[in-house]
Amino acid sequence: MGFKLKTLSALVLILITGAGLTLAQADGRNITAITIFVYNDAHVSHSELAAAERQASLVFREARVPIAWLNCVDNRKMSEDCHRRLQPNEFVVRIVPKGQTSSDLVFGVAFLAEDGSGKYSDVFFDRIESTRHEEGSSIASLLSAVTAHEVGHLLLGSHAHSPLGIMAPLWTKADLRRIGMGALRFTPDQSSRMRERIQEWQTHADTVRLANVRRID
Ligand SMILES: [Zn+2]
Repeated sequence: MGFKLKTLSALVLILITGAGLTLAQADGRNITAITIFVYNDAHVSHSELAAAERQASLVFREARVPIAWLNCVDNRKMSEDCHRRLQPNEFVVRIVPKGQTSSDLVFGVAFLAEDGSGKYSDVFFDRIESTRHEEGSSIASLLSAVTAHEVGHLLLGSHAHSPLGIMAPLWTKADLRRIGMGALRFTPDQSSRMRERIQEWQTHADTVRLANVRRID
């Protein structure tokens, strides 16, 4: 009688390393976390913001994309790190008090160049507040879903929308119910596209680092 080997490749491990948060992938390679700089211009409470970030981290973890948050609370208390130049794997989410579009149905916007690249996105807090009691959703769950959606745009580039899941261009009542349960996700295709994009940046960063190495003997 034999025994079953556990499929190690299916195990996903979170490792804290000196270089930051990484997530081991099924193929054995590591992905370094992307970092989201959060500007809380809408003064969302710390507890709700922390809960939203935790939920959004879970949505990305399901996609095997590790994520780290850097809260740049306001100008007086802004962390030194918030002033640094953004690296390829660093993005900005600004929670603004009022939506900048005419439609009340729009929860946020990601600013993308024609080639689909972009670093900045806004989340409209007034739209979240006015929807918070619908279908069991809450401020934290909506804020996490909208943030994940906008970061999804920044990671996926052009053509990021899909008919189903967190990247649907319009959320139905059923979607709002899933958001309330923290169950609205990226599709498998979107998940692998995000990981590929991050691995490309990582490979490029490693190449640049090696090119800068100088022999000292
Ligand atoms: Zn969208």
